[in-house]
Amino acid sequence: ARGAIGVDLGGSHVMAAAVDEDGRIQAKHERDIDDRAPSAVVDALAEVVNAAIGAAKFEVAGIGIGSPGNVDPITGTIRYSPNFGWTHVPLGERVRAAFPKYKIFVGNDARCATLGEYVHGVGAGTKDFTLLTLGTGIGGGVVAGGVLALGYQMGAGEFGHHQIRPDSGFICGCGKVGCFEAQASGTGLIRHAFRAAPSFPRSALLDVPREKLGSKAIRKAAQAGDPHALAAFGAFCDDLALGLANVIAFVNPEVIALGGGVSSGGDFLLDRVRPLVDVRTTMVPPGTTRIVRASLGNDAGAVGAATAAMRGGLIAQSAE
Ligand code: BGC
Ligand code: ZN
Repeated sequence: ARGAIGVDLGGSHVMAAAVDEDGRIQAKHERDIDDRAPSAVVDALAEVVNAAIGAAKFEVAGIGIGSPGNVDPITGTIRYSPNFGWTHVPLGERVRAAFPKYKIFVGNDARCATLGEYVHGVGAGTKDFTLLTLGTGIGGGVVAGGVLALGYQMGAGEFGHHQIRPDSGFICGCGKVGCFEAQASGTGLIRHAFRAAPSFPRSALLDVPREKLGSKAIRKAAQAGDPHALAAFGAFCDDLALGLANVIAFVNPEVIALGGGVSSGGDFLLDRVRPLVDVRTTMVPPGTTRIVRASLGNDAGAVGAATAAMRGGLIAQSAE
């Protein structure tokens, strides 16, 4: 059997999986990252990769890494990653030095996840597929006519940084105001809750210590009918729908898959968002783009990164 190691690198967490050629995960190793200095991140990454290599029941064809930000496709250098606070971090070079025996591939985390879902998940069988990961930030990837778009400088799919509220929105990690990711990521939901707080002085959400108030807690409170949480969740859904309608106008996918932590809201989220997208959809019949939850969950990035390592790049082609 063939397979590769797929790594999903995030700002606070890294996961490495041994993934076989059918996209099945044989073993998974993960740990938190508490120091974002490049050398500390590489150490954490190397630890979970070593564990995954040890657990793999196949000969490892390579190591694929999905990282947030803009990645130089030749060298694997992270040129710019606002959420990591990184500019020009030679991740590929450092991982190559740590694992000289293996072929190393580094790509954007969300483009890797898009490849994973397109080949082994909810995008299989389509030709026009978009994935958005709603987590700390918003990542994206576009398959158009069966080809994963990379862009001239590897920036295709960076929907997180299209501005939807330039006049009234939150400040984004990239420095702009009202980026889709500032408004409609997990962090965006938390910010909506703080913005709405003055109207709900007796809100139970405000009893939660500031650093513990996460997007999941807000969504659950909304689901339980808490008025403050519902107001925040409503504003968040409006912004999410606005960005999704823009995505439909840009690339007109058959399916938009939502992944990342926020998408675990499932139907509670989707039932609210779909009609809001429909009223903003123009030029194509509203409702024709299916908006669904990503099916590989938080594994999509690692599965896609391993798939890319096996293929020698982010080449999209569903297994026929
Ligand atoms: C970055 C993307 C990344 C996404 C999810 C965004 O802030 O610009 O490159 O895919 O976060 O990690
Ligand atoms: Zn931005």
